[in-house]
Amino acid sequence: MDQSDGPERLADARRLLIVEDDRELRTMMERLLTGEGYHVDAVADGQAGLHRALVDRYDVMVIDRGLPAIDGLDLTRRLRGRGVATPVIILTAYGSVVDRVEGLDAGAEDYLVKPFDIDELLARLRALLRRHATLGETIRLGDGTVDLVRRVAHTADGTAIELSGRECALLRTLASRPGRVFNRDELRTTVFDTADSDTVVDTYVHYLRRKLGKTIVLTMRGHGYRIGVM
Ligand code: CA
Repeated sequence: MDQSDGPERLADARRLLIVEDDRELRTMMERLLTGEGYHVDAVADGQAGLHRALVDRYDVMVIDRGLPAIDGLDLTRRLRGRGVATPVIILTAYGSVVDRVEGLDAGAEDYLVKPFDIDELLARLRALLRRHATLGETIRLGDGTVDLVRRVAHTADGTAIELSGRECALLRTLASRPGRVFNRDELRTTVFDTADSDTVVDTYVHYLRRKLGKTIVLTMRGHGYRIGVM
């Protein structure tokens, strides 16, 4: 590879945010992932992570579970609640099934137990970016599209409809697995804060139907909801 590849590689480099309080691990990941061609930002606590993730746009985030200020699961949940669709890998010192499920429930896409091999992290990052690229930031629902970054839906006749972060977060989760039925508890913990009331999911389904039409979210009686079409 000659020198002229440098700037070009940097321009379309994948942007990655690391949120890890262990200084040694953070520095090590930052160095290795930069060496792999990622554009890396690294911060040491959940509050700084939340700020960065809301201000900047990233292609993928690596978030430690145990963090000062806001823990990794809470951080992931808050980002999903604000409509940030960037895929997340949770790093954790624990490896039980319960922890894994909690991570996925919070809205993370993947989960890596410490200590991990850097090649394993690189492979997971590549897989996640590939998978996410197929979903992208714009989702097509029947004749309409939803831009999850700009939070706007476009109907077949070109009408633009503004959406809230939570409406986008709910749509994104449902659209991530089009054939799957999500139950209310699952949606409440993934998309919304667990402290929210029992009716929060139904409320937001109602909002979405009012804005985008009755068929945008389908009710599977006794089971939950799945994504429909606009
Ligand atoms: Ca930690």
